[in-house]
Amino acid sequence: NTNSNINTHSVDVKLTNLLKVFPSHNGGDNFYAVDDIELDIKAGELVTLLGPSGCGKTTTLRMLAGFELPTSGSIHIGDENVTNVPPNKRNVAMVFQSYALFPHLSVFENIAYGLRINKVPKGDVIDRTYKVISLMHLEEFKDRLPSQLSGGQQQRVALARAIVTEPKVLLFDEPLSNLDAKLREYMRDELRKIQQRLGITSLYVTHDQTEAMAISDKVVIMNHGKIQQADSPINIYTKPNNHFVAGFMGKANFLHGVVKELKNNMAMINIFGKSVLIRINDKVKLTENGPVECVTRPEFWEFSDTGKFIGQVTRTIYLGNHVEYEIAIGDDTISMMDFEHFKHGIKQEGDQVTLHLKEECVSLLPTRKEY
Ligand code: ATP
Repeated sequence: NTNSNINTHSVDVKLTNLLKVFPSHNGGDNFYAVDDIELDIKAGELVTLLGPSGCGKTTTLRMLAGFELPTSGSIHIGDENVTNVPPNKRNVAMVFQSYALFPHLSVFENIAYGLRINKVPKGDVIDRTYKVISLMHLEEFKDRLPSQLSGGQQQRVALARAIVTEPKVLLFDEPLSNLDAKLREYMRDELRKIQQRLGITSLYVTHDQTEAMAISDKVVIMNHGKIQQADSPINIYTKPNNHFVAGFMGKANFLHGVVKELKNNMAMINIFGKSVLIRINDKVKLTENGPVECVTRPEFWEFSDTGKFIGQVTRTIYLGNHVEYEIAIGDDTISMMDFEHFKHGIKQEGDQVTLHLKEECVSLLPTRKEY
């Protein structure tokens, strides 16, 4: 119990060999929406499922909620195998993109609803509803109808309604998608604070990479029903497992290099005709004189008179706190971000530039066959 007012129980969640196959409607192949995934969510963690449309995020979330039965595999919440337990017996609560509030009930009654149908004694319903109203700073809205609230306020009510029942697991289905950018950022931070304060194990589905980075203990990148990487935001960004992960989370310049020399944990790699020294990782098998794919993020490049690389600016985009450039080097074009333009000015299209690559930041990827 991490909160003195609201009872919470932090439990682990475990998805084992989870598979969801939708039968074909036209005699074609069956569709593997979730293709044999393994996922551990530790007690109190917030884990985000991130990936392109159709990759199986929502289906995974719905299986944990119990709205969708897995084709095979199992789901554990704490020590309990809930694979065949109906949704209302799982002690999970879901927050939807559409808020899903009852339009004819006041904020108070919307929040109290789950307690009333669970036949919680009247006095406790009032007590517990007020505690959550206070936690979510909804006091001044408690007598209003949902239609009399802004989108952000409605989403706070939806979250209040989810936590009042003291669920073991909170599920979020793109809860902030209907809010404008500024409010989305604010609500994202609010939601994360409440989740951490209560310590409720949470699974969160989003399309939004920044949102995933900002709120998650662990980000799970999915593609075609499979997990590509499940890791901390920092590892996903700086040590991507493969091309897909590197390209999905943030901007990436993929460069083709040739391995010149391997020594201890370092590889000398030829990129654009220059030698760079890059740390080896255990995801990648390298052979001398063999090809390798390198990921350089736009911020790994900087203007420097002593840099090894000569390029030409082909595009300049001024964004206030930084400038984005496209720069042609050899036959390739890289994108670059410059946060130091206050010091050395803004380059113009056509300018010749000398670039330094922060070699210590570059990561290597397995060839496409290896994953
Ligand atoms: P989005 O970001 O667009 O919501 P998602 O990653 O959440 O996508 P899912 O909703 O999990 O994706 O769907 C995964 C795949 O399974 C999709 O290709 C979808 O068309 C398919 N699918 C989902 N439900 C069914 C169903 N009941 N019958 C057949 N196919 C389905």
